Amino acid sequence: MKLNRFEFFKNAAIGITAVTAIDKLTAQAVVPEKKASPTIKKVTIVGGGLSGLYCAYLLKNAGYEVTIIEAKNRIGGRILSVIDEESRLTAELGGEWIQENHSTIKSLCKELEIELKAYSTARDILIGDKLIESNMVKPNPETKEILKRVLSLYEKMSPEKKQGLDKLDIYSFLKYQGVAEEELYLLDMKYSVVFGESIRTVSAEKAIGIFETYENGFPFQYKMQAGSEKIIEALKNKLKTISFIIADPVTSIEDAANSVKLKTKSGREIISDACILAIPSTQLNTIKFLPELPKDKKLAILQSRLSRITKASVLYKGVDYVRDKLYVQSDGIFQSVYSNANKNKLLGKGILTLVATGDRSDVCSKISGEFQNTFVKSSLDNIELLSTLKLEKIQIKAWQNEPYIEGATSVYSTGTFDIKSILKRNHGRVHFAGEQLGNHNGTMEAALLSAIEAVNGL
Ligand SMILES: Cc1cc2nc3c(=O)[nH]c(=O)nc-3n(C[C@H](O)[C@H](O)[C@H](O)COP(=O)(O)OP(=O)(O)OC[C@H]3O[C@@H](n4cnc5c(N)ncnc54)[C@H](O)[C@@H]3O)c2cc1C
Repeated sequence: MKLNRFEFFKNAAIGITAVTAIDKLTAQAVVPEKKASPTIKKVTIVGGGLSGLYCAYLLKNAGYEVTIIEAKNRIGGRILSVIDEESRLTAELGGEWIQENHSTIKSLCKELEIELKAYSTARDILIGDKLIESNMVKPNPETKEILKRVLSLYEKMSPEKKQGLDKLDIYSFLKYQGVAEEELYLLDMKYSVVFGESIRTVSAEKAIGIFETYENGFPFQYKMQAGSEKIIEALKNKLKTISFIIADPVTSIEDAANSVKLKTKSGREIISDACILAIPSTQLNTIKFLPELPKDKKLAILQSRLSRITKASVLYKGVDYVRDKLYVQSDGIFQSVYSNANKNKLLGKGILTLVATGDRSDVCSKISGEFQNTFVKSSLDNIELLSTLKLEKIQIKAWQNEPYIEGATSVYSTGTFDIKSILKRNHGRVHFAGEQLGNHNGTMEAALLSAIEAVNGL
């Protein structure tokens, strides 16, 4: 196809996004009501991200005495919204999208009166001079057939067979099943944004279920209207009466006969009847446990991984040159660029979001701010947007540099068949939560689901 990228990307008239508020959320997540236990009254939650706050919310509502300890001086973890004062536009540097089947977060938003908006996005792919427009971004019929066959094979597999499949990465498995190299490249491009890593590293067993959901439609569907951090704010408001200890990481946990004693870096000691560690599994190694964690758990912690994602937000002037529906995956350092109608038309300003994952993100995370900005500009230039827009502000967050988190979203690589259940298992009075343990891991939904499970396991 003869490429006319400039015309394509500047054409503001094509495909204006239908942005509609969902006033009636149909999602009805079943959140079992937690009843207070006769033996456990005081619970300490470690980690002030979404899962920790939700644990605290559920427990407080059930009448428990709750304390939250957060390592950083900020509550919210991997949810981070930055609002531009003049335009009131919000940049999401962390968790952002809610999918149709994420019923727990949808119903929590409803409960906390947080408005969700539905977005419809185009998804164009641009590699070299090859442009694939959104309506063509589908696997070719042969690939589709193979994916279908693989899915039905998977559904019939015994646990032993699934364990065998887990030894392979999804890229190699699909190649073995006959998917052509060019198609694998496109699948890698598409799913590296979902997994935060190349599909060459993701367990075939873990990826197949996700492919099933995503092949049926684009997953990015809803966003919190006033920014994802609204959910953090709303939970904090509901937790006004509980104790928060911030900027003080937990360094050791001792499980005694009738209580659990946590020590923090500053020397505080907090004694409670039980605790929930709602932190990334990769951070568990920084805490000293007494008694020690069993060997299989230590190994599972070593096998845990968080993906590498760098997100950039660009405040620009020139909204007429950016389609509301713009979503391009390209061969730039930041491989995704999207707009999603994030505009203030009166001021003529908008926000573009750029995402780099895996090795690309590592490159971004290791260089100075000045070079990072150069990468952002070159990625916009790659899709012919740089010359038309006036860039006013660039904000970049490389999550692998973030203290006490050191990554973006959990990703299960080959050889991790059973580690979720090992990581979830409580260690005496110490229980575990965090998105890595929930169904739909890597999402805000998973953070909530993990909290429900941990709270019910007390
Ligand atoms: C760039 C990016 C994009 C994302 N996009 C999406 C998306 O579009 N949709 C979606 O649903 N999800 C998305 N996510 C994922 C989502 O944000 C997370 O799954 C969710 O916020 C994780 O919540 P959590 O509470 O499990 O962990 P966290 O938010 O990481 O909270 C854990 C907290 O524990 C604290 N901590 C760590 N160690 C200690 C210690 N020793 N003592 C005390 N505190 C400690 C940390 O400081 C942190 O605040 C994205 C994440 C990132 C980073």
